[in-house]
Amino acid sequence: MTKKFYVTTPLYYSNDKAHVGSAYTTIAADVLARWRRSLGDDVYYQTGVDEHGAKMEKAAKLAGFKNPKEFCDYQTQFWKKAWQDLNISYDFFIRTTDTEHEQFVQRFIKKLWDKGEIYKGKYEGLYCLGCEEFKEPSDLIDEKCPMHNSKPQKIKEINYFFKLSKYQKILIGLIESDKFKIKPKERKNEVLGFLKKEKLKDISVSREKVVWGIQLPWDKKQTVYCWVDALLNYLSGIESKSKIFWPADLHLIGKDILKFHAVLWPALLLAGGYKLSKKIFAHGFFTLQGKKISKTSGNIIYVSVLVEKYGADAVRYSLLREIPFGQDGDISEEKIANRYNNDLANDLGNLVLRTITLVKKAKLKGEILKVEVSSLKIDNLLQNLKFKEVLEKIFQEVKEANFYINKEKPWQFDHSDKKLRQILQILQEKILLISKSLEPFMPETSTKIQSQLQTLKAEPLFPRIK
Ligand SMILES: [Zn+2]
Repeated sequence: MTKKFYVTTPLYYSNDKAHVGSAYTTIAADVLARWRRSLGDDVYYQTGVDEHGAKMEKAAKLAGFKNPKEFCDYQTQFWKKAWQDLNISYDFFIRTTDTEHEQFVQRFIKKLWDKGEIYKGKYEGLYCLGCEEFKEPSDLIDEKCPMHNSKPQKIKEINYFFKLSKYQKILIGLIESDKFKIKPKERKNEVLGFLKKEKLKDISVSREKVVWGIQLPWDKKQTVYCWVDALLNYLSGIESKSKIFWPADLHLIGKDILKFHAVLWPALLLAGGYKLSKKIFAHGFFTLQGKKISKTSGNIIYVSVLVEKYGADAVRYSLLREIPFGQDGDISEEKIANRYNNDLANDLGNLVLRTITLVKKAKLKGEILKVEVSSLKIDNLLQNLKFKEVLEKIFQEVKEANFYINKEKPWQFDHSDKKLRQILQILQEKILLISKSLEPFMPETSTKIQSQLQTLKAEPLFPRIK
């Protein structure tokens, strides 16, 4: 029976450019989407960009654009290009300025207003523009947002509030019982700890002075708070297919936006009468050469630069191989280069090159693709997002195949020797198995290997980096 699988990344802030951080989430979701498609499942993979809000309006002005929408159009092309470069196989790229999305948000929020889930009130408090988030004094260090090292604005305006507080108990129950799954366990505990310790406050879901946003249908002077706008993409993007794909099977996020996804999002769904998403998985943070990734201090690597130098597959491989998914870790270009040279060029590349050269010399035909090979039994690991462990298992096979060549020394045999044919048969089967297991992670390499196995035209898979 075909199963459906709806997976999402968060929306990325349109004014940024794709760097290793956003690539990490997007690659992970892509691996899952490709894997589930290979099982024959009905997959829907959605990613996209978040384009509204005061921060965006300001960025557009700074960049010299009169109209924020023109700036968004300009920015979006870079995101799409980055994902194309990385071979991201999304089914839909959503923009929060899409008309369908805007209309959906208006209908959704009107429904909450009509149901009495939203009320008019006065907001007085602090707002960090960098986070696009209302802050409590307890969130701050020396009165500054610790993420942005800047003082939040004092805001005093008439807003509309969503009755978030009434969902506190319900959420605790749903999360504790795993009816709404939050993974890994540390993140679940973090959310439960927060929900049990602090009394949830109702949250302002509109802004009076932000023009660049989706208008409230019943009060045109107000626009929808950009986080509510962004979260609703998970529903609006599949609206015409919601019977098939809702509830979402997996929202992949970074742990910095856990609260929005584990508290506000399910409460909005409950208020709107929707089923809850099945699972949230929050991965860890990584540092770049031991330091926080930061655009302002220049400690950042952009996807385009990496792909140009190492190719998409090496980037996809290195990021998922380096850090156990869910935990914090460190990445650097040096680490990517090492993975490229050692695991990919030396271990995998040489295995394929040596074998195909020998097969060709022995005048065997490239018929190995017709052979049924068993699988590496990685489905259970992939189900649990253990990407690093899967890659370790595949590259253990690569090591063993190299060991097998070195032990059997096939180059010592005469071309027509039966034993040589046997050894080469085994090697080709091993390589076929490796290439098939690698497909979700390294689609280009997987195709190249299978084509080389068939045509017996051996070319280095990972040429030396200049
Ligand atoms: Zn902030």
